[in-house]
Amino acid sequence: MNVSIYILQGAKTSLIHWLHEQGISDENVLQAFDKIERHKFIEDTILWDRAYENTPLPIGCNQTISQPITVAFQSQLLQIQKDDKVLEIGTGSGFQAAILSAMGAKVFTIERQIELFRKTRSLLTKKMQIPDIKFFYGDGFEGLPAKAPFDKIIVTCGAPNIPAKLLNQLKINGIMVIPVGENTQEMKRITKVSEDQYKDESFGEFRFVPMLQNMVKYNQNGII
Ligand code: SAH
Repeated sequence: MNVSIYILQGAKTSLIHWLHEQGISDENVLQAFDKIERHKFIEDTILWDRAYENTPLPIGCNQTISQPITVAFQSQLLQIQKDDKVLEIGTGSGFQAAILSAMGAKVFTIERQIELFRKTRSLLTKKMQIPDIKFFYGDGFEGLPAKAPFDKIIVTCGAPNIPAKLLNQLKINGIMVIPVGENTQEMKRITKVSEDQYKDESFGEFRFVPMLQNMVKYNQNGII
């Protein structure tokens, strides 16, 4: 390790103040950002001194850990209640899933890349022992019909459209937070008002890695 734990703790406190200034007022979100240490989700320790900057950082497999403000913003839009059953599309580093777990949710998270799925599941369950997260290797466009319905659904990659299969897996009064668009994405919150009625709200532009079809079965060396 090349950066002291005290420096990281100070940087984390500054980030939480900044998130509050940016309009993150849900105490549950701010407390989760205090409890969950973002640097531990970044494999390359060289990047640790940037872990509490508001920037996405590489996590391998051509993917990034999302910006803190994006994670905080999506978490706040979800209006998490204790024991909410939450489906996350795009496990990536596992940071968003850990934040939701710290907020009291029961998390089901799906990743399409086998290497990230294995690495993150092992880090969060074995090394960090974070509770209440179940990991699935699969295609997020399909959701998890066997575990549905969900109180909340969060998509953490840029979706080309709002997948109908995910809407079907929401409870009545359930909420889905999903960035929709090709190059940049509009953050949308969809509330399922009745079996066939939805409320649709928009919260500005964000930028995500794309939500892609099909699963990736090989790691970077081409080995299953
Ligand atoms: N929530 C993550 C964000 C990672 S970036 C975090 O906190 O770090 C988005 C992730 O979505 C990537 O890991 C990418 O591989 C994954 N992804 C993209 N399309 C997907 C799909 N159709 N199903 C599941 N995961 C998908």
